[in-house]
Amino acid sequence: MVGGGVAGATAALTISRHGLPVTLVDEQPQAGGQIFRAPTPYARRHVPPNHEFAGGDRLRALLAGSRVETRPATRVWGVSPRMDLDVLGPDGIDQIATRALVVANGATERVLPFPGWTDPRVIGLAGASILLRNAGTLPGRRVVVAGAGPLLFSVAHQVMELGGDVVAVVDAGRSGDWLRLGTALVRDPARLRLAVQWMTRLRLAGIPIHHRAHIAAVHAATDGLSVAVAKAGRPGVAFRYDDVDAVACGHGLKPATLLTRTLGARHRFDGAGGYWEPETDFSGRTSRAGLYATGDAAGIRGAAVARLRGLITGHAVALDQGAITARDFARLTRHPRMLLRRLDHVSRTMLPLLNASAPLFRAIPDDAIVCRCERVRAATLREATATGARDLNQVKAWTRCGMGPCQGRMCEDGARGVLAASCDLSPEEAGSFTPRTPFFPLPLAALTGTFAYSDIPLPKAAPL
Ligand SMILES: Cc1cc2nc3c(=O)[nH]c(=O)nc-3n(C[C@H](O)[C@H](O)[C@H](O)COP(=O)(O)OP(=O)(O)OC[C@H]3O[C@@H](n4cnc5c(N)ncnc54)[C@H](O)[C@@H]3O)c2cc1C
Repeated sequence: MVGGGVAGATAALTISRHGLPVTLVDEQPQAGGQIFRAPTPYARRHVPPNHEFAGGDRLRALLAGSRVETRPATRVWGVSPRMDLDVLGPDGIDQIATRALVVANGATERVLPFPGWTDPRVIGLAGASILLRNAGTLPGRRVVVAGAGPLLFSVAHQVMELGGDVVAVVDAGRSGDWLRLGTALVRDPARLRLAVQWMTRLRLAGIPIHHRAHIAAVHAATDGLSVAVAKAGRPGVAFRYDDVDAVACGHGLKPATLLTRTLGARHRFDGAGGYWEPETDFSGRTSRAGLYATGDAAGIRGAAVARLRGLITGHAVALDQGAITARDFARLTRHPRMLLRRLDHVSRTMLPLLNASAPLFRAIPDDAIVCRCERVRAATLREATATGARDLNQVKAWTRCGMGPCQGRMCEDGARGVLAASCDLSPEEAGSFTPRTPFFPLPLAALTGTFAYSDIPLPKAAPL
């Protein structure tokens, strides 16, 4: 099992309850994933009690009392064609053999490049949320929150909770899409309550909320950042905010697919979400036998759906490994499947909001850095397409965009948008980067082990 978020932990607990051995690998020091991430002791004292802390504690207690073998602080950096995992953990490098592999490694945040986004005071919404919720720390006193999707309002609310000033919320979505989501949320009262609470607090505080807007540029000034905001379809700068300490900016989430793509599972492009996801049946089975994808790794749907998907995938693994019968499976999954159908429908209404910045990815300004690892600007990508590059891997080979340590996680959407617009392709036709191992930079010592130079056998010098 890769990923100890709500989906992976629930699947691991379910499989273990059916009497099968499970190893749960997660790069974080404790299980919980994005929403149930373990808070620091400081955050426990300073962040108001919330259902995420309580839910995470419950999940970790269940894991601790189970037979699941957890391997925390252990990162998967590669996978063999036989689905054995290459991991780097506290004891160095290791390989974990698998009979079945469940990928529950969650989502990656989409980044829309604009001039100035590489300033260290511009951070992702997910990163800001970790800082605020799990470390109890403000990214700065005066914060502009920008991007797309419900995370905008979640993060703005968290900034206010810790006593920071939200200077403005800049949303790529239309207010009509939010109304549609509000109507759909009637079927999910818990999330509706939360959304109403966030919005009311922002409105009462008189915080400007700009819909159909995006950050045009961020400049470093003497008193902090100067943030220029543009409105969709209108040239020029519509608003400017000065003396800003930090910008929290994210343009929706996409499933983390490096592992499933490396293993050759079939993927499909979800037009509503604007991302590639592994093709799965309702239990998380991919096109490859013994390989499952569950939770956000199988398509972005939020925490409640991730838990239900994890539960059903856990039962499916037990069925496929012969631990339960098809009849047991049908009985055990009847209720979760019913709930899943209802919540999945609500979650899908969120996808257009998460993907509201899609047109902006096609119009990234020439001077914006798209690939921050290799410092490749949009203009360089356009030069490549003008001289004949027609797919993402050609763009990568010609410009080095996507060849850096992040392995394209940050720049792929930007590069795809530029390529699609230049060559009149759909995002689906523009494709994706071919994944390569290691997925993450590895310390050389992890591969070589420790040694003394005197131990290296040197060949005798050739006779003179
Ligand atoms: C800022 C933010 C706020 C959110 N707020 C809400 C909310 O209010 N309500 C809601 O319903 N949903 C919310 N979500 C979405 C919610 O977090 C996800 O839907 C949910 O966490 C998905 O669970 P998961 O188990 O699929 O993935 P995750 O919780 O993301 O867990 C994935 C796990 O995989 C591990 N992992 C990833 N790659 C590797 C690797 N290579 N090696 C080892 N381990 C790895 C990670 O460490 C992580 O623990 C929010 C998301 C974000 C980013």
